[in-house]
Amino acid sequence: MTSVATTLTLIRPGGPVTSCSPALKEAPWNFDAVPMPSYGPGSSMADVAPAGTPRQGEIPAEYREASDEELDRRILAAKATLGDRVVVLGHFYQRDEVVKYADFVGDSFQLANAARSRPEAEAIVFCGVHFMAETADIVSNADQQVILPNLAAGCSMADMADIDSVTECWEQLEELYGTEPDASGRVPVIPVTYMNSSAALKGFCGEHGGIVCTSSNAATVLEWAFERGQRVLFFPDQHLGRNTAKAMGVPLEQMPMWNPRKTLGGNDEQGLLDARVILWHGFCSVHKRFTVAQIDQARLDFPGVRVIVHPECPMPVVDAADEAGSTDYIQKAILSAEPGQVFAIGTEINMVQRLAAEHPEHTIFCLDPVVCPCSTMYRIHPGYLAWVLEALVRGEVLNRIAVDESIAAPARVALERMLAARP
Ligand code: SF4
Repeated sequence: MTSVATTLTLIRPGGPVTSCSPALKEAPWNFDAVPMPSYGPGSSMADVAPAGTPRQGEIPAEYREASDEELDRRILAAKATLGDRVVVLGHFYQRDEVVKYADFVGDSFQLANAARSRPEAEAIVFCGVHFMAETADIVSNADQQVILPNLAAGCSMADMADIDSVTECWEQLEELYGTEPDASGRVPVIPVTYMNSSAALKGFCGEHGGIVCTSSNAATVLEWAFERGQRVLFFPDQHLGRNTAKAMGVPLEQMPMWNPRKTLGGNDEQGLLDARVILWHGFCSVHKRFTVAQIDQARLDFPGVRVIVHPECPMPVVDAADEAGSTDYIQKAILSAEPGQVFAIGTEINMVQRLAAEHPEHTIFCLDPVVCPCSTMYRIHPGYLAWVLEALVRGEVLNRIAVDESIAAPARVALERMLAARP
């Protein structure tokens, strides 16, 4: 059985190999049987998945017990039988032993669009996490079926904002601000959701004059929102919201945090009246691990190192880095660099390790010296992929992710607004 711990090797030259959790040696199906699940081995395993989070039943023993070689043979055979009837998508943060079967590799939005580019595929097998499969279902054709190989592959960040808490927040804000536009026609508040959120929240934005953003276009989307609103409610990732708004010149004092467990999110009325961006109390457990001390150490060890971090990292880390950008930005920066550069990257370890393997002309390592993959991406293993593909060969669709049209329609509106927003 292949575990993350055996396939990920620390790529920081000269560093010790340590992992953040001994559970990384275990197979993901060992967690399917746990009654009160946490997210699984990796950087958010300490967080308990909220009630209502999809559960994955135990997959048949033939998949749990198969060797890597047998799974490889079975996955390739099923893919060959299905041909163009299936498209397999692999997220950048997915483990290599799954990504190698992907027809497309990319970030969540690139992959949703890739699904759209293959209308002949009856089934889209999304090797990523739940919100990504939902987005693929929203943008793909109605007759295409989206499959998530492990239903427990959620996203701890996306789960930090649910539709009930956001609706309650919205009602409190409406009570405080009213609903009338100001003299220049701007409404009191525009909801902006990060792509890493449930379909229900994308639908909420579509219904309330709001919009979706990615980590590549967050500044453009915030500009779009400020043209139409006096302020923004940004969820679920506080860090992407703060880093983006700060770079646009919004003062930190005008970015209160909304804690959904407190009245008015834990703010006073004046603080909310003065706000330009209200930040939801959410974060990515993977990117939260990066620190300024790691950047200092990288610079000490490798003078001249180019430090690039993802904007889901905390603000002091983004401020201390040389650059911050999305996974697409990081990939392009490495692709376009003159050979011989040293890169310290602040994003998920699977992607960093893959970039290092694909670009031996550079030295590329993860800022965090501890191997700690995204615990939810970890839940997808070749065993689950073989299970859903062989079912498709038999004409059975397992683990389908289908977004109800009452949610998908307004979510599409919010996504289309994002696509139409221009810098
Ligand atoms: S890396 Fe963070 S935001 Fe991305 S899927 Fe994992 S927990 Fe969610």
